[in-house]
Amino acid sequence: MTEAPAQATGEGSARADASAAALTDGIHLVVDALKLNDVTTIYGVVGIPVTDLARLAQAEGIRFIGFRHESNAAHAAAAAGFLTGKPGICLTVSAPGFLNGLVGLANATTNCFPMVQISGSSERHIVDLQRGDYEEMDQLAVARNFAKAAYRIHRAEDIGRGIARALRTAAAGRPGGVYLDIPAAVLGEVIDKTAESRSLWRVTDLAPRQLPAPEAVDRAIELLAGAQRPLVVLGKGAAYARADVQLREFIEATGIPYVPMSMAKGLLPDDHPQSAATARSLALKQADVVLLVGARLNWLLSHGDAPTWNPDAKFIQADIAASELDSNQPIAAPLVGDIASVMDAVLDRLKPGQVKAPQSWRDELRERTDANVAKMAKRLEAARSAYPMKFLGALQSVRDVLAQHPEAYVVNEGANALDLTRNTVPMRVPRHRLDSGTWGVMGIGMGYAIAAAVETGEPVVAIEGDSALGFSGMELETITRYKLPVTTVVLNNSGVYRGDEPSATRDPAPTYLHARHDLMIEAFGGTGYQATTPEEVTAALTRAIAQGTPALVDCVIDPSDGTESGNIGHLNPRGLTALR
Ligand code: ADP
Repeated sequence: MTEAPAQATGEGSARADASAAALTDGIHLVVDALKLNDVTTIYGVVGIPVTDLARLAQAEGIRFIGFRHESNAAHAAAAAGFLTGKPGICLTVSAPGFLNGLVGLANATTNCFPMVQISGSSERHIVDLQRGDYEEMDQLAVARNFAKAAYRIHRAEDIGRGIARALRTAAAGRPGGVYLDIPAAVLGEVIDKTAESRSLWRVTDLAPRQLPAPEAVDRAIELLAGAQRPLVVLGKGAAYARADVQLREFIEATGIPYVPMSMAKGLLPDDHPQSAATARSLALKQADVVLLVGARLNWLLSHGDAPTWNPDAKFIQADIAASELDSNQPIAAPLVGDIASVMDAVLDRLKPGQVKAPQSWRDELRERTDANVAKMAKRLEAARSAYPMKFLGALQSVRDVLAQHPEAYVVNEGANALDLTRNTVPMRVPRHRLDSGTWGVMGIGMGYAIAAAVETGEPVVAIEGDSALGFSGMELETITRYKLPVTTVVLNNSGVYRGDEPSATRDPAPTYLHARHDLMIEAFGGTGYQATTPEEVTAALTRAIAQGTPALVDCVIDPSDGTESGNIGHLNPRGLTALR
């Protein structure tokens, strides 16, 4: 961001005053309030008016991860929220930096991840009369459209209250992104230090349990007890809820087949005998009673509509947000509450043997699974020896290396790179897969990877389409600057979707791209590998994970491999082109 002359901000004098022993200022209050609430990391980009805030936070023991672009910092904060169950914190500068961060804030809200974007902003009395301040914008008004809630702090004495309110709102109920606006004047405001202890507080029980009513639980159990073809759909809300033990116990006790949404993969290991992931279309089309656990009937589940679903299916929905129910289909048995409490209550009230999935239904799905696995095995076999390398050639190597590293976190985005990885690379551990999520967005890659590495310390493998990486690729520098154990695997087929589209003019086709990503990371001090065969992918990835330092494997993929928009090509409007 361009910086205004120091005297225009009035920062200097406030700092001098704050050094007096009996005084404190807005910046100190923000840091103290965050510390009091156990915030350990801030993801952000510095500039006017938040640079001193980042410096002080770091000096006070909060880790500050400085990004190259605010979108990526905000995506990181969102992923931190998903991974820790506590709001991730993103720090942005006024107007343009704030706007960049909003992408991540909106995406967090869409995905139900808790995060708080704290942004500095310009002088209210100038902004509100539109007198043309440095980076002038009514940020609060803008943020309201993109956040679960948006607040502004007007007085230093309200900083503790504002931060408590933001953290609470982000985490409690349905999690989401909260915007907190702190004007420069408030950050620089000097107040009596004795007021500090009264104005700051620690939030008690950040996301209180919410128990379902017993009669609602009985209604759901009865519906399941009468089902001939019951099905459980696990969504990322179930992963977020950390009800792993209860979910497994329920699924195994009842024998009900389940389908995991992509970020719920690993909640039970993907090779679990009751997983119907590989018979998904049959499962959805035939199920007569469906228990949705932290999964919305949105576009990713075809809105619950026929022909994808059985038109006579009855839905049970476990969700913390009652307003989600009936958004697409009638919900015959609502289970409103946090999923851990819901599953506790279900297990508590379920009588032994009361719900049992008929063996014929389980067998039907198992047969379809076996047939689909055999079909896929042929495709995988053909890809293994293909040259130039295919997506599935590279991905089999990634799969095999990751099988040795169940502790590794997988970040995944792209079109074909997303679809094919999801189906090829199994997950064994809960909350270890982070991907494009509810929007199917591109650009989360490096932000999510950085957060996964920072929050867990485990190896992270980011499997990226070459187009997808472009949205956050400069953060390879952040990864190397902080020496994070992140290996980025780029499935590089030289284009958006594919790289062989002819151009109608002297310019490249709209979908064409060209990059040696391995050289990019070398420029920043990381290790780059170029891999042209599955064997080279195996060798490079094995080495990179073993070294635990920043690395990138640029997999050279056949430019003709890939379909437009991957599995969701049908969403492209065709109009007259379809008739030609
Ligand atoms: P997916 O994309 O994996 O299907 P969604 O993001 O559509 O998952 O759905 C997640 C759902 O989980 C949201 O409706 C959200 O309200 C709900 N949810 C999030 N956290 C919890 C929780 N702790 N308990 C219950 N429901 C939750």
